[in-house]
Amino acid sequence: MRPDKNPMPHQDPVVRSGNFEEVALGYTKEQAVDEAQRCLNCKNMPCVSGCPVKIHIPEFIAKVAEGDFEAAYQIIAADSALPAVCGRVCPQETQCESKCVRGIKHESVGIGRLERFVADWHNANSTEKPVKPASNGHKVAVIGSGPSGLTCAGDLARKGYEVTVYEALHLAGGVLVYGIPEFRLPKSIVQKEVDGLKELGVKIETNVVVGRSITIDELMEQEGFEAVFIGSGAGLPMFMHIPGENLKGVYSANEFLTRINLMKAYKEDSATPVLRNKKVAVVGGGNVAMDAARTALRLGADSVTLAYRRTEKEMPARVAELHHAKEEGVRVMELVSPLEFEAGEDGFVAKVKLERMELGEPDESGRRRPVRVEGSEFELPCDVAVTAIGTNANPFASMAADVDLNKWGYIEADEDGKTSNPKVWAGGDIVTGAATVILAMGAGKQAAASIAKTLLGDDAE
Ligand code: FAD
Ligand code: SF4
Repeated sequence: MRPDKNPMPHQDPVVRSGNFEEVALGYTKEQAVDEAQRCLNCKNMPCVSGCPVKIHIPEFIAKVAEGDFEAAYQIIAADSALPAVCGRVCPQETQCESKCVRGIKHESVGIGRLERFVADWHNANSTEKPVKPASNGHKVAVIGSGPSGLTCAGDLARKGYEVTVYEALHLAGGVLVYGIPEFRLPKSIVQKEVDGLKELGVKIETNVVVGRSITIDELMEQEGFEAVFIGSGAGLPMFMHIPGENLKGVYSANEFLTRINLMKAYKEDSATPVLRNKKVAVVGGGNVAMDAARTALRLGADSVTLAYRRTEKEMPARVAELHHAKEEGVRVMELVSPLEFEAGEDGFVAKVKLERMELGEPDESGRRRPVRVEGSEFELPCDVAVTAIGTNANPFASMAADVDLNKWGYIEADEDGKTSNPKVWAGGDIVTGAATVILAMGAGKQAAASIAKTLLGDDAE
């Protein structure tokens, strides 16, 4: 039995930095079976304790080892609404794989890689169509079509509820389509999930900003919804409030990625162009910063520099994302913090003034606090700058919902998603703050069960 994981086949870094095709190519059947055979089928299943939705991991892996991939898929699908998505974007290294006993002496089993293989196999081979269940006559509105909203909608639709999803943007999927780039998560995979929901009878209304285009009370009164789930996310960008942040060519990562992912800004004839062949500076050290930097490279940037105020060791980004970014040519500048963006003669950003930092005592997050080094200012020329320093709650839906919010504007909800308004449930990033796809899905699932129980009592199942 091999001590390490079967490596994931990848596109060559030089080739992939010039295209938007998926970086990781997925296991072959033989690699998947070989990897599954590394699992010890542990009785106490430590890996399951690390999975936020408690997928029956050793059971699905045993089916992969037997070559029964459809049975493996059905085991995963019992607990996860979006296996092809999670197999690609879940941070398994800090979840299920971090608990795997094979990881104590050697490398953990490649649980995420196997999940992705099984989901892709099912999508390529299964001809079974979702069957629309008979209506139970109860109507539920879902606000936001990210992983929490899609999961909540799917679970309720399978139980016979008439569900309508309202989405502010013109395409359903939330961060899965407007944030995470194509080279990590192809849009076709998300679209397949959305199409599956439509086949179950879920209606999806795009271009509707609830709280602006229509209020929640109007939805309830005019459309007859008995319950509302809010999964509106945490996509409001934070700003640094430094001079020059509003210059042309300075984008928040949210705007930069939305323009490119959703509005085809990489095309010559796009109405929302992002400049090509330029020097790009990205501020931040999380996964969003990595996505922005790697996207900029693929747009043909001459150079991409990632400016981070701590060191690589403290970066919140997944190790694999940082590794991929560096392999592709992103230059990482540690221990620097921006002071000001300055314009050139054309009015566009031309440079960012930075100062050097050093690490001081640990702060509330446990990481060593960056401290300014006096007199260390210097300039970095750039034609495009992207700031990825965090996000806040999306405000419109929650402000219109008559629910209690915490001091940061996030909705207060219990573990079933219940809010202070008995007709409103909430889950995902709008409750927890920016988190992960799997946690948002888990919240959507809990809320769907709670809504069903409230509307139909003991008949909910
Ligand atoms: P979202 O996915 O944010 O969806 C909310 C939806 O609600 C959006 O479509 C929004 O347009 C809509 N909406 C908001 N307000 C309204 C309104 N008033 N009316 C109607 N619709 C509204 N997590 C991972 O696990 N792995 C990763 O690799 C990963 N990478 C990421 C990369 C980026 C660039 C970003 C930004 C996030 C990433 N995340 C990742 C985090 C993850 O995507 C989120 O935690 C998750 O999508 C949250 O799901 P959600 O359903 O709560 O909200
Ligand atoms: Fe298999 Fe690792 Fe889970 Fe044990 S902990 S059952 S080896 S995946």
